[in-house]
Amino acid sequence: MAIVSADSLAIIESLGLRPVINAMGAPSRLGCTVLSAPVRAAMDAAAQHCIPIAEMQERASTVIAEVTGAEAGCVASGAAACLFLGAAACIAGEDRAAIDRLPDTTGLRDEIAIHRAHRNPYDHAVRATGARLVEFGYLGGPSGVGTHRWQLEAALSQKTAAIYYLSAITEQVLPLSTVVEIAHQHGVPVLVDAAGVGGPPANLRRLIEHGADLIAVSGGKAIAGPAASGVLAGRRDLIQSATLQQQDMFVYPDLWRVPLSSGEEEAVEPPHNGLGRAMKVGREEVAGLIVALQEYMKRDHEAERRRWSEICGRIAAALLGVPGVSATAAPPERAWADVALSFADPASARRVARSLETGRPRVFVGTMSIPRAELHISPYSVRDDEVQPLIDRLCNAIRDNYDSV
Ligand SMILES: *Cc1c(COP(=O)(O)O)cnc(C)c1O
Repeated sequence: MAIVSADSLAIIESLGLRPVINAMGAPSRLGCTVLSAPVRAAMDAAAQHCIPIAEMQERASTVIAEVTGAEAGCVASGAAACLFLGAAACIAGEDRAAIDRLPDTTGLRDEIAIHRAHRNPYDHAVRATGARLVEFGYLGGPSGVGTHRWQLEAALSQKTAAIYYLSAITEQVLPLSTVVEIAHQHGVPVLVDAAGVGGPPANLRRLIEHGADLIAVSGGKAIAGPAASGVLAGRRDLIQSATLQQQDMFVYPDLWRVPLSSGEEEAVEPPHNGLGRAMKVGREEVAGLIVALQEYMKRDHEAERRRWSEICGRIAAALLGVPGVSATAAPPERAWADVALSFADPASARRVARSLETGRPRVFVGTMSIPRAELHISPYSVRDDEVQPLIDRLCNAIRDNYDSV
């Protein structure tokens, strides 16, 4: 795990800021994860030179294609931005007038079919294009399998632009391969939210192999690139549309070349700035993401997994004799390593989280399970030099809470 440079803390403090120990994983609210020295060096280098963004995006496309097995790719400011661009691409295609009209979808195919079980707070990104979600399938125990094929078929119409699929949720939904089969029978693309897919690139490649037309991946999560980066990978024509709608079009028509083209096609006029212009990325993000993707292909994912398990084991062992908590490290075969801390009641879990976030050094842990009286520790972004301070803070905060009640 990356070593911090000697002056980085001094610079952060000179800005009037204090870093925290990130024991939450790669959360956007902490700026995702710590970047490796080569990724930081690429960002620093890009900051020192101006480079045409279109050329950087084409270079990124080649690397994204290598990593994911897709035909092409582009970079936007996060997986949410990529979902937005992907939806806009499915709606407008290469129709310049349609690109110009969005988010007004009058006369366009603008329905996106979605499993009820896949509705989530990130689907704003898709709806923001002007698309209307058409839900199918059921939720909850009495629905049995949740979704039948005929329900998806019935949700498709002449107005369907795409089917959205959330790869993280596999219960109450049709398998991706079935969704792809039905979608392609109807000539409809499938847009997969793969933002948080972890582990090696094979896990992304599998989605493309299953026939996903577009996948949106966070640059700052498993890829360990810049927090404000995301990958949209998939069919070349859709990536081209996304690119047309994202890149700046403040350009003299004769001097413009269609992105991702050989340059030998007949000259065409560019569209005006599209809806995705608000999701631009800078040189630093694209450069950092390219290096992060290259590292992601080569990283020893098994060794990383072992390191996380070791950290989790150390934390669980240290908390063994501490009253008021029971700590369980996830078994090594689980995709994401973590330690679950179980308390007597939600109020205790909440008090401990609050004390961790406000003490010194500040520690941020997973708090979404407080209603179940649990906190979660993720080792993903914890540097080697932070493991002991993290353990000390956990022991003290939990003891203090126990002593106070
Ligand atoms: C994190 C996440 C997103 C958003 O990704 P960003 O890269 O932060 O934009 C979208 N969908 C899911 C399922 C996520 O986990």
